Amino acid sequence: MHDITRIYIDGALVAPHGQQRFDLFNPATEERIGQVTLGDAEDARRAIAAAKRALPGLSRSPKAERVAMLRRLHQAVLARVDDIRDATILEYGGPVARAQWSAQYAADAFLQAAQTLEDYPLERRIGSAEVVMEAVGVVGLITPWNANAGFICNKLATAIAAGCSAVIKPSEMSAIQTQVVTEALHAAGLPPGVFNIVNGRGDVVGAELSTHPDVAKISFTGSTAVGKGILRAGVETMKRVTLELGGKSPTVILDDADLGEAVKLAVAAGFINSGQACIAGTRILVPQARMAEYAQRIGDAVAQVRVGDPADPSTAIGPMVSQRQFDRVQRYIGIGIAEGARLVVGGEGRPDGLPRGWFIRPTVFADVRNDMTIARDEIFGPVLSIIGYRDEEDAIAIANDSVYGLQAVVSSTNPARARAVAARLQAGRVQINGLHQEPLAPFGGFKQSGLGREFGEFGLEAFLEPKSVLASR
Ligand code: NAD
Repeated sequence: MHDITRIYIDGALVAPHGQQRFDLFNPATEERIGQVTLGDAEDARRAIAAAKRALPGLSRSPKAERVAMLRRLHQAVLARVDDIRDATILEYGGPVARAQWSAQYAADAFLQAAQTLEDYPLERRIGSAEVVMEAVGVVGLITPWNANAGFICNKLATAIAAGCSAVIKPSEMSAIQTQVVTEALHAAGLPPGVFNIVNGRGDVVGAELSTHPDVAKISFTGSTAVGKGILRAGVETMKRVTLELGGKSPTVILDDADLGEAVKLAVAAGFINSGQACIAGTRILVPQARMAEYAQRIGDAVAQVRVGDPADPSTAIGPMVSQRQFDRVQRYIGIGIAEGARLVVGGEGRPDGLPRGWFIRPTVFADVRNDMTIARDEIFGPVLSIIGYRDEEDAIAIANDSVYGLQAVVSSTNPARARAVAARLQAGRVQINGLHQEPLAPFGGFKQSGLGREFGEFGLEAFLEPKSVLASR
């Protein structure tokens, strides 16, 4: 049993003032595997005070010093990649390949931030002005359960690159990953208070961070509903905010696409991270005249997808993270059936041979209309909707007819046509004929998928304030 009783403040693991205990589960077995003691608002305030004390030293440190810190953090997290992977499998149910990838991503985030900082001009001249990019101040970093370690590391890496000290509020459901990451970050030997980590409830620790006058900025990844609350809460103290929120991403299969390749890509995009991914391509748009053919082929491909033990390398889809998520996804499958969408594969209930664990039958609906609930709401599970379009104009209109705009996928054998369609899609990232990775390119959402961007230069600037200094000669 894991018993997590410490939070990290001012360079040390300390007992929190908060006393509430929170159960941790293995989603593949539904067994309780531990407990974490949650910090409270008092703990958040202590952490903010520690970060405030560390800010002057960090924000005025030379670039080379911060680059060196980021490289040390990279080495420290790299040394614990296997432990982060194992914690992600145990506590989140992440399939091993995905868990390995996200653990490595957590370590790499520090190297990428070091590179971004090295290449970024913190001072420049604009006409007669000297423009200096300054750290925005103490930042609050709030992460979700579906990629907790990766988001802690990426947000912290960017904060340190900018010279901002941080208070991290990880997902309370990811305390085992957080503990491993905390140990790794501590081993890097940074000055006390540069980063502080407070396990706690969102509406307690997260809310304190979102309103406290000494916090200049919040970087939040999570649901759109909570993101809106954070934006409202920050108005009084005019907080800068970066919000990475939900999605309902379209995969647009053009009529010239290679059918086999397009089907493979649509299934891969839809089931990223067991379907618990903000970027998952959950609306598959196909030419209406070929609906039957695509439904059949996508259904056949999904029927082959392995669901089960996340530690087994042949598993593609693990369990949902919690009973609550399991119930939510089951409810949406029921709504799809009730709304009259055609169930191609999957459906309500558990997959065969998996009586325990929060496993979902990978599900595909065809003949979905874009105004149905299953095409509008973010389900956050392995449930895909196939929607027919008349022509290219109609495909673009349907793709953009969503409150979200995080990512889109385009399949076509004609690169120029794919790019022309990509140019008209309202999404922060468009993937053409594959799921490509460029860690320094900006990432974030149009519309209600978020505010601002993370990664690379755009991500760094979100933690900086420009100051113009003008002087008489
Ligand atoms: P969530 O919004 O419930 O929680 C996210 C974090 O916010 C948690 O740490 C939680 O404790 C905290 N929180 C909750 N209430 C709060 C409050 N009132 N004030 C401050 N903090 C609060 O999200 P989740 O269920 O953990 O994660 C799933 C959601 O995250 C999905 O909607 C998904 O699309 C989104 N997500 C987005 C991205 C992206 O980059 N756009 C990436 C991953 C996940």
